[in-house]
Amino acid sequence: MDVRCSQCGEQFHLYINKSWELMQNFETDGSVTYFLKKEIFGVGCKNKMQVHMKFDIHKNLVSKQIENGEFFES
Ligand SMILES: [Zn+2]
Repeated sequence: MDVRCSQCGEQFHLYINKSWELMQNFETDGSVTYFLKKEIFGVGCKNKMQVHMKFDIHKNLVSKQIENGEFFES
């Protein structure tokens, strides 16, 4: 998965290590899901991209959001 800066178009490869980067989220029914918050700082400009992702109990990605940038598939 890759992200692109919305200000200058700079592209970044987003690598997520699921074994230690994901944080546990305890649901009200007692089940555990995972989430990830990641900040990406541009090199070519001062933009700061914020990535939020949610994962299910099996660490499969269920939703993703980004601020100040966009996702794209390379
Ligand atoms: Zn940029």
